[in-house]
Amino acid sequence: MTMVITGNSALQTEVEDICDVNIDACIQCGTCTGGCSGIELMEYGPRQIIQLIKLNQRKLLLNSKAIWMCVSCHICEDRCPAKIKITGLMDTLREMACAEPTTKTNEQIKFHKLYVKQVKAFGRTHESILTMALTFKGTPLPPLKLMKDLITRMRVDMKPPHRPDKSYRLSIRRVEKKGGKGHGN
Ligand code: SF4
Ligand code: SF4
Repeated sequence: MTMVITGNSALQTEVEDICDVNIDACIQCGTCTGGCSGIELMEYGPRQIIQLIKLNQRKLLLNSKAIWMCVSCHICEDRCPAKIKITGLMDTLREMACAEPTTKTNEQIKFHKLYVKQVKAFGRTHESILTMALTFKGTPLPPLKLMKDLITRMRVDMKPPHRPDKSYRLSIRRVEKKGGKGHGN
């Protein structure tokens, strides 16, 4: 069966209103997927994600693992012949998934919210505090041997985090005022 897509889907309009992408510019060449760093863990590559947006597959995309396996490496958009900002698009889909009460990717959303909260508070993540915060939210602790190894090899920061300087705090406030709240609230 051949499907003809006419006009923008509701999802395409929603996404294009939030981030600076022109979905229609995609020529489905697959260059993005060919170089994608996270592709082995994604059920849909970036080329398919663009197509699913055009097909208005909102529920499928916001519940997908693929949007959380993107590591924001920018390879796709550096190589895209249509100059589509795919990394920003993936960010937008993650933020939309966080705002959607029905999304099933709860572990990823829980991690994302704590991560954003920490970056806002400390200017970076603090592994031991992040691990404890996740544990309080119901995620099991990593195996004891792994934790011991990470601590003894100083792979986990056990010192208290620094408070970022005033200019950083002001920048965060400016971004929040513009509506870029993140989901660490
Ligand atoms: S590289 Fe760009 S034009 Fe090609 S499929 Fe990916 S998004 Fe579309
Ligand atoms: S930014 Fe994300 S989607 Fe693009 S190549 Fe990297 S991992 Fe893949």
